[in-house]
Amino acid sequence: MKISLIIPCYNEEQALYPLYEALQAAMQQLQEYSFELLFIDDGSSDGTLDVLKLLAQKDERITYLSFSRNFGKEAAMYAGFCNSTGDYAAIMDADMQDPPDLLPQMLEIIQSGYDSVATRRVSRKGEPVMRSFFAKMFYKIMNRISESDIVDGARDFRLMKRSMVDSIIAMSEYNRFSKGIFGWIGFKTYWLPYENRERVAGQTKWNFWKLFRYSLDGIINFSQIPLSLASWTGIGFTFFSFIMIIFVIVRKLIWGDDVARWPSLVCVITFLGGLQLLCLGIIGQYLSKTYLETKGRPHYIVRESNRESARRIN
Ligand code: UDP
Ligand code: MG
Repeated sequence: MKISLIIPCYNEEQALYPLYEALQAAMQQLQEYSFELLFIDDGSSDGTLDVLKLLAQKDERITYLSFSRNFGKEAAMYAGFCNSTGDYAAIMDADMQDPPDLLPQMLEIIQSGYDSVATRRVSRKGEPVMRSFFAKMFYKIMNRISESDIVDGARDFRLMKRSMVDSIIAMSEYNRFSKGIFGWIGFKTYWLPYENRERVAGQTKWNFWKLFRYSLDGIINFSQIPLSLASWTGIGFTFFSFIMIIFVIVRKLIWGDDVARWPSLVCVITFLGGLQLLCLGIIGQYLSKTYLETKGRPHYIVRESNRESARRIN
C-alpha cells in the first residue's frame, strides 16, 4: 500500500527540515507502507525551493512541484491531489500544526472501515482571541446556511482513500473551498480530535482580511442563501409599500391631504437605495464567481518539478 503525503509550502524554508525529520520518524513506524512525499511550492519567495531540491536529492520518495507564482493553498492542494498516486493520500501543513505523529493512528482508524480520517482541533491555544471568535462565528453561520456540513475547528489535515481523492479531483471548480468540498462529496469520515499545536517556525500566511475574504468565498461557494435573502427583502418591502399606498389613499379620502414631509421621504429613499445597492452587490459577488468559473482557467501552473510525468497545468 502506498501513501501520498501532500504538503503545500509557501515560504516555509525554516519549517521544512523539522518537518522532514518528523515525517521520517512517522514513516519509520509505518514500514509496511511505501510513501510518496509531494511538496507543492506555492510560489515561495524565500529558499523553500532550494531546500526542497536538496531534500529531493537525498530522498527519492520526494517529489516537488514549484508553481510559477503564488496560487494559494487551495490550488496547491489541488495540484497535490492531481499528482498523487497512492492508495491513500493525506494533506498536511508544512508548519507541523498538523502533527505527522498522528498518522499511524489515522491509518489504523481508516482501515477499520472509514473512507477518510479528518482532524479537528479541540482547542485554539496560542491563537489570537479575536481570530478564534470570528472563526466560531463563521462556522455557526456557515452551518446554518449551507447544505454541506462543516465542522468547527476542522483542519484540512486528513487522510483519504483513493476513491475520495478521485472525487475531489472531479470537483474541478475554480473557486475552491476545501472544507465545503470535503463535506459536499460525502463518504464516511471519522473526526479525530487533538490539541492545537503551534507553528515550528516561520509565520502564519493568513491575516485577518485574508481569512475574512476566504470565509466570504466559502459562503458564496457553498450557499445560495444570500441571494434568496436579497429577493425576500425585496418582496417584503414591496408588500410593505403596497400597504403604505392603501393607507395614504384612505387617509387622504377621510381626512384630506397632510403637510408634505420631505425629510421622512429622504430617509426612505436613502434606505431603499442602500438596500438595493447591497442586493446588487450580493448578485455581483455570485456573478463574478460565475464569470471566473466560465473562463475555465487552470488552477495552477508548474514552473519546475523533479517528476517528468507531473501534471504541470491543470
Ligand atoms: N500556504 C500555501 N499557500 C498560501 C498560503 C499558505 O501553500 O498562499 C500553506 C502554508 O505553507 C502552510 C499551510 O498552507 O503549509 C497553512 O498555512 P499557515 O500555517 O500559514 O495557516 P494557519 O495554520 O495559520 O491557518
Ligand atoms: Mg499553520
